[in-house]
Amino acid sequence: MDSVYEDVRSILENRRIRSEILLQQQNEQIRIAHPELADVEKKIADVSEEILKNSLEGQSSEDLQKELVRLKMDREKVLFEHGLSSDKIKIQPYCEKCGDTGYIEEEGKEPVLCDCIRALLAPVMTSRSGVEKYPEYSFEKDSDQFFSENPRMQETYKKLRLLTEKEKVPNAVFYGRSGQGKTFTAVAIARQYAKQGRSSFVIRLAEAQELMMEHRKLIQSFYTPAGKERDVEKRVEYLTQADLLVLDDLGVEPRTANTEADLLNIIDTRILSGKTTIITTNFDMESLKERYGGRFFDRIDRNFVRFNFSSEGARA
Ligand SMILES: [Zn+2]
Repeated sequence: MDSVYEDVRSILENRRIRSEILLQQQNEQIRIAHPELADVEKKIADVSEEILKNSLEGQSSEDLQKELVRLKMDREKVLFEHGLSSDKIKIQPYCEKCGDTGYIEEEGKEPVLCDCIRALLAPVMTSRSGVEKYPEYSFEKDSDQFFSENPRMQETYKKLRLLTEKEKVPNAVFYGRSGQGKTFTAVAIARQYAKQGRSSFVIRLAEAQELMMEHRKLIQSFYTPAGKERDVEKRVEYLTQADLLVLDDLGVEPRTANTEADLLNIIDTRILSGKTTIITTNFDMESLKERYGGRFFDRIDRNFVRFNFSSEGARA
């Protein structure tokens, strides 16, 4: 996630610099006369950057938020002691909502990314998500081809769409015969996540399995070209860390000695960190149980909401 953070950080920095230029002369004189003001403002900027970084990576910033409150009080104190009004040296930010920090604080809550950052992130997240392989799959496209004769699923689809736009969707298994809109819905959700600046990743399960295999090989080998290693490393990281992961088409992948351990590893890591996983499969629950049994099926059984996409009367 580092490169995204760097891009975003430098854009925000440019915005802050732009705002500062507007008031530069006046401010410069004040700051030259009062170096302790420049000092505390530098600290405020540094802590704000750390908080933004944590928000982008889904980490907590509780201690940093407390420190920020302290620093802002220090700043007020310096201003007061020198008879400066904070209005006089107030900077006009590019984004009024977040003051170009990139996040919005709410009392007693973790900071959330500001809409200005989400807008900056959207194209990056979309290109990383893998949804571009499915250009026709989005909430904006007509879903009638799948759900016009399946009113039950039509309703569910609307609810999932609303949920995606407002908050996060739960872990879910989309099951049922092929051609019923499972992948369509899952990709539409992933695309919407990306549009909102959240990370998502769509991958066919067979490919995910190959990726894990390749990763294992890289770890075990003595020499690997650095570029390739980083690429595999990054993709594996995305499997566990993306806000939303779609594992498409469970059940058609070739069975290997590591299949279940790999799947379990991905799912468990994601459950622990509160990330959403959607699995699509043409198998029904009974067949999945037969095929996987054991701990992997148990995880799905306990932690995933099931959605049967087959139209009514059809074999579930
Ligand atoms: Zn903003």
